[in-house]
Amino acid sequence: MPGELKESTTMQVRDEATLSATEMVAMQREAWRETVAYVRRHSPFYREWWDRCGVPPRSRLGLEQRHRLPTLDKRVLSEEGRGLLCVPERRVVDVVTTSGSTGQPLIWRLTEADLERLAANELLSFRCAGVTPSDTVILAVTLDRCCMAGMAYFLGLRRLGASVARVGPSTPAMCLDMVGRLGATAVVGVPSFLAQAWQRAAASAEGTSKLKVRLAVCIGEPVRESGFALNDVGRTLAAGGVVRVASSYGVTELASSLCECEAGIGSHLHPQLLHLEAVDEKGMPVADGEVGELTATTFGVEAMPLIRYRTGDCAAMFHGRCACGRVTPRVGPIVGRKSQKLKFKGVTLFPSTLKSILDSTEGVGRYAIVAHRDGPLSDRVEVRLTFRGDPARVRRELTERFRGEAKVAPLLSQATDSEVESLQFPEGARKRRYFVDLRLA
Ligand SMILES: [Zn+2]
Repeated sequence: MPGELKESTTMQVRDEATLSATEMVAMQREAWRETVAYVRRHSPFYREWWDRCGVPPRSRLGLEQRHRLPTLDKRVLSEEGRGLLCVPERRVVDVVTTSGSTGQPLIWRLTEADLERLAANELLSFRCAGVTPSDTVILAVTLDRCCMAGMAYFLGLRRLGASVARVGPSTPAMCLDMVGRLGATAVVGVPSFLAQAWQRAAASAEGTSKLKVRLAVCIGEPVRESGFALNDVGRTLAAGGVVRVASSYGVTELASSLCECEAGIGSHLHPQLLHLEAVDEKGMPVADGEVGELTATTFGVEAMPLIRYRTGDCAAMFHGRCACGRVTPRVGPIVGRKSQKLKFKGVTLFPSTLKSILDSTEGVGRYAIVAHRDGPLSDRVEVRLTFRGDPARVRRELTERFRGEAKVAPLLSQATDSEVESLQFPEGARKRRYFVDLRLA
């Protein structure tokens, strides 16, 4: 029946390693068509939203015509998202919240079929990362608190057939204890937490030589620079005895995550479950390898499907065949949130570019990157920092690297540890930050 998603208790997934480019395009076209038909039939939200944006009700809206459809973002969802639910409330089996990094967390609902889709997504992601049924995996991720990710990982690993220990975020000591006792071969967690555990192991009498972990699937924080080289945290993990570090990217609203293969040059898209493109301000795709805002359409979601959703995350996408042989598009490291973009004396850049220079310059202590608004077209950027080496030398080196690698010269001002601490962790904050945006203050 047109406009109905196929119901199945176990969603069948296609092996992506053998998918051809032609098969992939056909798969995406068909899934796009099904999704548009489904929301036209079941979603009062899209009917009204598209009508208000001037989309003719019977117009052809295939994958190739997608740019005729308006994009939507978290603001639209929080103001008008109630009508987004395409099923009766009684069919909802799980309720989660989105991350609260921008504004109030949204309530997100899933049906049984949505949980199946979530499991299928994670099965594909872990398979792509190289996890096998013979792996013992430590899940150092939050499983409650209305988080989707931890549960999704568990469902995917269970479907893959790996053994899972749901250790949770706990403490580095507990994580390490379970890694040792179980002879775990893979870990899933936030990289800065895993790096702490590894540093602890390296400092112990036994060191890391007896640990059997060969893979760390990293979530929530970057482990690579924009050129795909491992960043500080990624290097700490790799050097700490983990054979391979795999970066991943996930968004709760999309009920989807993407993970790197062994080549480590971008996280692979699952074309059966998601369409993703990097777009400019007008919602048009940017060139391959150029940074744009990731804009997504979910396929196969029953309760709250999203069409052309602006995630607010900026990254480049790559469409050529990967070194692993897969033809599925890849997403490069997230360079920042769209709202963090700086306009600095004619140069546009993300704070993460400055951060990677600061992190790799010897003698830099603690720091906070502070943005002020100078005018409608220009921001003023200041780095408040402490020094661990000769301040004059560190300043000289930083200024040279900022000019050479980022084409900017932010003001460098010396601060005390407590000043940096209060900038990084202001009262009431839930998370430490290195970028302080005072442009709207
Ligand atoms: Zn690959």
